[in-house]
Amino acid sequence: MVVLVAFSCRRNVVSALVPTIGLEVHCQLLTHTKMFCACPIVHGAEPNSAVCPVCLGHPGSLPVLNEQAVRLGVRAGTALSCAVDPQSVFARKHYFYPDLPKGYQISQFDRPLCRGGYIHVDIAGKRHRYALERIHLEEDAGKLNHEGTRSLVDWNRGGTPLIEIVGKPDIHTAEAAAEWFRMMHRVMTTAGVTQGDMQKGHFRCDANVSLATEGAPLGTRVELKNINSFRFLAKAIRHEIERQKAVLKSGERIVQSTRSWTGSESVSLRSKEDAADYRYFPEPDLGPVPVFDSDHEDAQKHLPCIPLDVWLLDQESQRLLDVQTEFALGAKDAAALLAEPTLFSLFQDSVKAGGDPQAMANWIRGPIARWKKESEGAPFLLTSEQLVLLNQRVQDGVLTRAVARELVQEICGRGGQVAEMIHSRGLARVNDAERVSQVAQDLVSKHADAAEKYRSGDSRVLGFFMGQAMRIFEGKVDGGEMQKALIKALSNEGLGD
Ligand code: ZN
Ligand code: MN
Repeated sequence: MVVLVAFSCRRNVVSALVPTIGLEVHCQLLTHTKMFCACPIVHGAEPNSAVCPVCLGHPGSLPVLNEQAVRLGVRAGTALSCAVDPQSVFARKHYFYPDLPKGYQISQFDRPLCRGGYIHVDIAGKRHRYALERIHLEEDAGKLNHEGTRSLVDWNRGGTPLIEIVGKPDIHTAEAAAEWFRMMHRVMTTAGVTQGDMQKGHFRCDANVSLATEGAPLGTRVELKNINSFRFLAKAIRHEIERQKAVLKSGERIVQSTRSWTGSESVSLRSKEDAADYRYFPEPDLGPVPVFDSDHEDAQKHLPCIPLDVWLLDQESQRLLDVQTEFALGAKDAAALLAEPTLFSLFQDSVKAGGDPQAMANWIRGPIARWKKESEGAPFLLTSEQLVLLNQRVQDGVLTRAVARELVQEICGRGGQVAEMIHSRGLARVNDAERVSQVAQDLVSKHADAAEKYRSGDSRVLGFFMGQAMRIFEGKVDGGEMQKALIKALSNEGLGD
């Protein structure tokens, strides 16, 4: 009895757990050269071809600060309403790894370049404000290339200027975290702080995830490392929340650790260090980081408005309203179309070519968007003229919706002319009431058991008959007409008994 009570208590506790998420972004600054030397920023170049004694950490070499990196850091902080420290300090962060030849990373610790600030995110029409902790400057590490049983080190990336943007842990859903990350990317690319190419690792996110009952102090956190896709971030966090729930439910504790997301699951990398483990101390080879008036002027010049995120969101909601009004669309349709520039321009062209806006939106948001999602990156060959024509043929009753849906997806990937395809493949709708009713009757007599079930009140069986009929007609029959014929056949059969 006692055991039962304890068990049910734990169940309740687990279900009442609130996830807390804090995000950190490493953002590559748009400079020509590295943070502390004159080596160029390259991508995909011959390994170890863009290195020098400074970024390789040779004894006696000394770092010289890249002023453009500081300037871009100030611009990032200004865009997000942070307080910029006029005299921030570099610090050595010690750890051993083959991609870090000095044995420490030059970063910032207790005097970061920027403190505080906010980022605003619109989720389902509601604006949320998330606080930021800090933005600091640091250099990137090199890269390990694993080849079978050996690993090769490429130091080209070592010393690349980064800012690390650290959010406060005040996000509570995976979706909000993904929106936060997306918005941060928009702000940083719009401000010209980074090129933001996520495939090249210009913008990558670490997520700290913990669970706790509401109002209680934060639980033990697990860090998900180096996620470079908005979709992956949401997926990885959702997965981590479920993993932690399962651990707690089984009565175990969460181990503070760092995990890596593989795309479908997370694997443990190492138990997580605390700041004290890094033995931070001020970098003796660099003085305080000077911020000049010209850096602030640069920020004012390059930012259309401050805070930039609010300006972007306001622009976006105005655009959303404009599109809703211009095309008489609902907010959901307008937002979905605007979210995909290629789809939105197809929509605009189709309407210009005479398509009904709502019908065009339905095709684009339905089968066309699905095709795009499934065939990521493939060339898109559907033209607005063909889409308008296809819709026209459905309106005319020449094509059934089922056939048209498949046809439009095929044209997306392979191109083609709607009229020609209907003609050469005989895709036109079957306009033969006699044949439709014959097929209905045949099906009902063939599946007498199912027909009996229908007559005894199980109307779901109708779906089975529809499926059979659609297969026989290869979708080329009007759904409403077929259903009518089936219902008639099913009732006639009943009367005949
Ligand atoms: Zn160098
Ligand atoms: Mn970092």
